[in-house]
Formats: sequence, structure tokens, C-alpha cells
Amino acid sequence: MDKKIRTRFAPSPTGGLHLGGVRTVLFNYLFTKQNNGEFILRIEDTDQTRFVEGAEEYINETLAWCGLQPDESPVKGGPYAPYRQSERKEIYRKYAEELVEKGIAYYAFDTPEELDTKRKEIPNFKYDLSTRNSLNNSLTLSDDEVKELLDKNTPHVIRVKMPEENETVSFVDLIRGEVHFNTSESDDKVLLKADGMPTYHLAVVVDDYLMKITQAFRGEEWLPSAPVHVYLWKHLFGIENMPQWAHLPLILKPDGNGKLSKRDGERLGFPVFAMNWTDPRTNESTQGFRERGFLPEAFVNMLAVLGWNDGTEQEIYSMDELLEKFSVEKIHKGGAKFSYDKALWFNHEWIKKLSAEKLLPYIKNVFAEKNIVVKDDAVLLKVIDLVKERCTLLPDFVEQSSFFFQSPDTLDIASVLPKWNEHKNNFFIELIRSYELATAFDAETLEHSFKEMAAASQLKPGELMLPFRIMLVGGKFGPHVFDIAAVLGKEETVKRIKRGLSILEN
Ligand code: GLU
Repeated sequence: MDKKIRTRFAPSPTGGLHLGGVRTVLFNYLFTKQNNGEFILRIEDTDQTRFVEGAEEYINETLAWCGLQPDESPVKGGPYAPYRQSERKEIYRKYAEELVEKGIAYYAFDTPEELDTKRKEIPNFKYDLSTRNSLNNSLTLSDDEVKELLDKNTPHVIRVKMPEENETVSFVDLIRGEVHFNTSESDDKVLLKADGMPTYHLAVVVDDYLMKITQAFRGEEWLPSAPVHVYLWKHLFGIENMPQWAHLPLILKPDGNGKLSKRDGERLGFPVFAMNWTDPRTNESTQGFRERGFLPEAFVNMLAVLGWNDGTEQEIYSMDELLEKFSVEKIHKGGAKFSYDKALWFNHEWIKKLSAEKLLPYIKNVFAEKNIVVKDDAVLLKVIDLVKERCTLLPDFVEQSSFFFQSPDTLDIASVLPKWNEHKNNFFIELIRSYELATAFDAETLEHSFKEMAAASQLKPGELMLPFRIMLVGGKFGPHVFDIAAVLGKEETVKRIKRGLSILEN
């Protein structure tokens, strides 16, 4: 029987989640769910110096917002709990010691000060094959000396001993195919730190093994770490048990020059993080796609096609379609240029595509943020349908439709005054009377009576429509004016015409 597919997203909780991180989750998730597998969220927080309060909650919330929920996680639990590496501290030492016994790792007693001195003495100092024999470690000390130091609890780390003869390490990456490395390219990385915590390199290998991970998707920036990981796999658990790696191509700056960073977003005025993030250490705030007014459907869709394409012209994909069409083979090998204009396009398409019912909670939210009270959901549903074509980001709904819920503060009278005359004034006085008496107040009836009255007054409806719009809306925008009047209802429409006339008369 084939092994059950198990994948993981293994972020370090150090800040807001970059859109590239969410894309890693998405590709992981799609692959896993297509194969009926389990998707795990593992928090890699063994570097306590980089720990940031709130970052883990932020990750959970981002995944929930995007609809990419893990099957096992620190919050959800699962058969391989705990899923937070800081709570698994006791597990790792055993494996580090096992590597020492096998001669694949060694104890190093050099103090941070001693290493600093070395760094000053030797340019580009690396703890590796070329230096380790002159440093303070179990390769240079006698067994008795090592035992004594360990018995006295002398602070020490455990380092991997990269092979003396260069070895070629190769593995088949799901995206790049066969990848080769020379072990001599890597230094003797610390596996277990002086505080007893593992480093990322040891913890990732041990946990991928213990959690029975079958495929590991991660960003291309981790490719240089792969030789150490493969080497550790080889000596701890056997290469045949190693997960298949998939190193995802980078997301590039809009001009294609290098990896897209948070700073690029700040410089060019677009979000790079999934949601708003405030760094608790510096209080620096960064805006996210969610708060900018993106729909999760659009955000996910935009990420899916950043580096993947099913070979057709299709660009809009729902989650169900992605689950059907996504394939790892079609992930591009090269980096994918980010375009904010394209992201906006996706959002506009998704606003048009989603029903008013689906959009309702988001729109209520943006109205609430502006303290605009929407009493009746039924009215808001009609409004959403009337204006959604005109909205790219969710807050655009406020601009495009707040006049439905509160009278415009000012009227753009200047656009009407030059052509305003008594004849038109009288028309609107008549219109008030007619609308007050109307028994039906739907757009069609209102338009019909408006046009009939215009004809009777020998006025062109076109000349009357603009003042009418300005009276109702305040400016030269918005959907079909009779649709607006119908939604406003008789009382409000009449009130606004009266207000408009009184302003025009003065
Ligand atoms: N903890 C690593 C990170 O912060 C995970 C890399 C991996 O997936 O192996 O991205």
C-alpha cells in the first residue's frame, strides 16, 4: 500500500507572513488534498532569540482567512503532538548524541568569545574541515578530556562533521529534478545549541521523520541547506525515508530584479504580507492584503498563478478548480514576477464573481469601519449588486455606495448651475409631486414617469438626469440613477430632491 501523503508548513514565528510563505502553504495544501493526505502546521520556534510575540497567532489567522486549514497543528493537536518545536526540546538531544556516536557529529566547547576572536583573526572564518582541527572540540581533545568537560556540564554545542573527502549529495527535487551538491560547500553547522535547543537543521530532519512527512515544500532560499539535511537523513534515518523535496521558485520584485521583500512593498506602495502586522518590538506596522481590501479568494487565486499555470489561458480559479487542476509538474522553475496591478485585477474579478450574499459580511465590515450604519441587509444586498462592477478593493464599496445609507455631505452643484433654469426647477417640483403619489417605486416605473414628464415639459431627459443624480448621490458617479432612487425609496428620494432644489435656489 502507498504511504499516506503527509506534508508540512514549518514556519518560524518571527513576524508577518510574506505572500511567498502563503504560496508555500497553498501549493502544499493543494498537493496534499489532491492526494487525500494530511497537511501539518509545525511551528519552528527553537531559535528563542528570534521569537516574536503574536507571530504564531498571526500564522493561524492567515491560514484561516485563506481557507488553508491544517489537519494537525499546535492548536488542533494530532497524533504527533506537540507541534511546536520548543515543546519538543527533550526529543532532539538523543539524535544529536547518536550522530556523535556514529562519528557524524562532535562536541564543540569553544566559547562565543573564542569564536569571535577567530572571526576577527581569520577573514570569512567558517567552522569547517579547514578549521575544526585547531579548535576546542571532541575531535581535538582526548576522550578523557571530553568526558571531564561534559561531566562538569561545560557549555557546549554539537556540530555536524561534514565529510573529510568531498562527497556528492544528490536528491530529486519535485520541481527542479535531480539536484547535486558537494558536501565541501557546507560548514560544520551547529545541530544542538548550548541551551539544549536544536537548531533548525537538526529539528527539521528529526521532526520530518517523526511526523512521517512524505513531501516537504519550502522556498528556494532553503536549497543551500539541503545538503546538510540530506547528510543528516543519510546517517540518522536512511535516505530512502527522506521526504521528497519541492523547492518553490522565488517571488520576484515587479521588475524581476531579486526577491520581493517587505521593503519593496513599502517603497512601491503595496502590501507584501497577508494581513496587517505590527512588530511588538518596534511598533512598526505593515499593511496586509486582507486589510487593504482583498478577498481571500482573490489573494489565493493570485498566489496560485504566481509560478504555476495549467497550460491553458485560464487565470481565474476557485479553490475547487485549483484542487482539480493544480499539478506540481507545472510549477515553473524560474522566479515569478509579482505585479500589484495584476493582484488588483484578480480582486476586481472576484468581487464581480462572488454573489452579494457572499460579499455581504466583508462589505458590512468596511462600512462599520467608517461608522456607517446599515440597518437592512436586504437593502445592502441590492446595493452590492448595483455597485460591485465599480469596485476593485473592498473599501471602494464605501466610496461607491455610502450615499445609499447617508445623505451626501455636499452636492456638486457647480456641475448643474450653469445650465439650471426655472423650467428645470419646475420639472423637479412636478417630479416631487408625481413621486409622492407613486404607488409603485421600482426603477422601471420611475424612469417611465420621469421620461413622460420630461416630454410633457419639452425637456430632454438627458439634461435632467445629471441634476437628478447630483441631488441623490452628491456627484457624477454611481449606478443607473433610477436604480438608485428605487433603492432609496420614496421618502428618501423625495427628501433629496427637495434638498437639492433648495440648494439650487439659493
Ligand atoms: N523553519 C523554516 C522557515 O522558517 C522552514 C523551512 C523548511 O520548510 O524546511 O521557513
